[in-house]
Amino acid sequence: PQPIIEVEHLRKEFPLRQASFWSKAMTVKAVEDTNLALYPGRALALVGESGSGKTTVARMLARVYQPTSGTMSYQGRIVNRQFSLKEYRRNVQLVFQDPFASLNPVHNIRYHLARPLQIYRHATNRDELEAGVISLLQRVSLSPAEQFIEKYPHQLSGGQRQRVAIARALAAQPRVLLADEPVSMLDVSIRLDILNLLLRLKDEEQLALLFITHDIASARYFAESTLVMYAGQTVEGGPSDEVIQQPKHPYTQLLISAAPNPGRANKIVKGVSKIPARGEIPSLIKPPTGCRFHPRCPHAMPICKQAFPPRTELGNGHWTNCFLYGGDPAVSGPTP
Ligand code: SF4
Repeated sequence: PQPIIEVEHLRKEFPLRQASFWSKAMTVKAVEDTNLALYPGRALALVGESGSGKTTVARMLARVYQPTSGTMSYQGRIVNRQFSLKEYRRNVQLVFQDPFASLNPVHNIRYHLARPLQIYRHATNRDELEAGVISLLQRVSLSPAEQFIEKYPHQLSGGQRQRVAIARALAAQPRVLLADEPVSMLDVSIRLDILNLLLRLKDEEQLALLFITHDIASARYFAESTLVMYAGQTVEGGPSDEVIQQPKHPYTQLLISAAPNPGRANKIVKGVSKIPARGEIPSLIKPPTGCRFHPRCPHAMPICKQAFPPRTELGNGHWTNCFLYGGDPAVSGPTP
């Protein structure tokens, strides 16, 4: 199938300080040269620690941030200033991490769901709006819907609020859902329910789903493909089974060995030695030269400080940016 959204060489810098007579301009290099594609009925997990740039990517895809450079296309049309924001947002919706902050406490659930029906689907008739709101609540399994319609956000649990937030995103009848850590602020006991809801909606409505997470183990359960980001750069990607069972990039290996459930993580990763989690994600104001992972990498070589490794294809759609697998003729690293 053709991708619904495709981005190439996406880059985002945030200006921190203008250049002046005394000092140079300062920028945060939040995202560098990122490529990805989202397909109908498929989920892509974007995985990384906080500060890796994954939320910035989602916000560029949602057109909350304007990319500094790179191209974004929606169904083959280049997304630019001429592409109406309203038309784009009708098709591409964002679900936020924090269900407690994403709903307005002064409005009831009817208002939260009726507003997007009015804006995006031009529903005006009172009965039509009521039926639309009830149908949305049923689609996210909040039933009986009539019991929820008059409630206010503070009367709902975290999981119920996130279901309302998902219903609000669905009101626009989007083709793409961008879910930014949709369960990380929820109680562990209900996370799986919300993930299963998103999976069901993806299948039933053939949604293209971007699932942002710091938990690489959940990516395997949830997404057909996985893309790993480190310090604003994508470092490895491919089918989730391949990336998680046979991670090649030392950072992906580190993420897996540091997964919250080491028993499960060690079981799924054959032949990956545990890597000491030394160091922290670097400053993106003055990021490390070359491969940004080199200060933390147990395999770093001199070339890693000098150049960013090119992308090496490993087969089956699996790829990585690491000199261990190619790009430096002086290195004879492990074969893919
Ligand atoms: Fe480590 Fe070098 Fe590979 Fe970067 S390119 S992950 S520093 S071996």
